Amino acid sequence: MAKFTFLGTGTSTGIPLLGCRCHTCTSPDPRDHRLRSSAFLEVEGHFYTIDCGPDFRQQLLRVGVSNLSGILFTHGHRDHTAGLDDIRAINFIHDKALPIYLTEELLEQLKFDFRYMFDENNKYPGVGEVEIHHFDDKPFFLPKDVTVQPIPVWHGHLPVHGFRIGNLAYITDASIIPEKTWPLLEGIEILIINALRDAPHHSHFTVAQAIEISEQLGNPTTYFTHIAHQFGRYAERNPQFPSNIQMAYDGLTIEFDPSWT
Ligand SMILES: [Zn+2]
Ligand SMILES: [Zn+2]
Ligand SMILES: [Zn+2]
Repeated sequence: MAKFTFLGTGTSTGIPLLGCRCHTCTSPDPRDHRLRSSAFLEVEGHFYTIDCGPDFRQQLLRVGVSNLSGILFTHGHRDHTAGLDDIRAINFIHDKALPIYLTEELLEQLKFDFRYMFDENNKYPGVGEVEIHHFDDKPFFLPKDVTVQPIPVWHGHLPVHGFRIGNLAYITDASIIPEKTWPLLEGIEILIINALRDAPHHSHFTVAQAIEISEQLGNPTTYFTHIAHQFGRYAERNPQFPSNIQMAYDGLTIEFDPSWT
């Protein structure tokens, strides 16, 4: 078995939203305090994160793990990439470049966003070092024969990826699952999916849409993530969902089976 930990379950603003005094943002319940969405995987003795947003450093400190075998990237929005500078600490520990897994398109964007890291002709001394591994829509492999199936989805008009590892699928930023992607999700037992809020949004599933997707996939154990403050408090909303569905919260750890059947 492998472990999946929710490092962050908030939307791009995090919760509490700076300056907001709403019912959710003023909740004393730690389950309503949400850092930006990211995940931590422990597979066959290797540690990975999915994305490295602005809270990356704080999130790794929280899980108490300082070594990392790599980062898998879903897409290039800053709430998923802004922590890239903090891989320097990981470089110091391992004394080598950190493997990152991403599409060619995303690498082009990171070269633009983090030019000082990627500009081979004018690299700034002391920046983070990465070892680049490209993926497209086909499965790729992590050490110890762990297979990762990229899950192509639409995030508004932006093509992005979720990931399937064994019986678990993680789709953090999406508003459309295209027809060709549904077969890749067949047979999953754990679905982690973005559910922003009840009101429609151009690039994220609503709560109702996320519930519908869970139903279409045969009601796997489902966790909502990338949650906005309009979603409401955990203690009030969570009991309203069917028994296989729950709101994730930061620090929640679940077990999954990384092997393919
Ligand atoms: Zn996001
Ligand atoms: Zn609020
Ligand atoms: Zn996004």
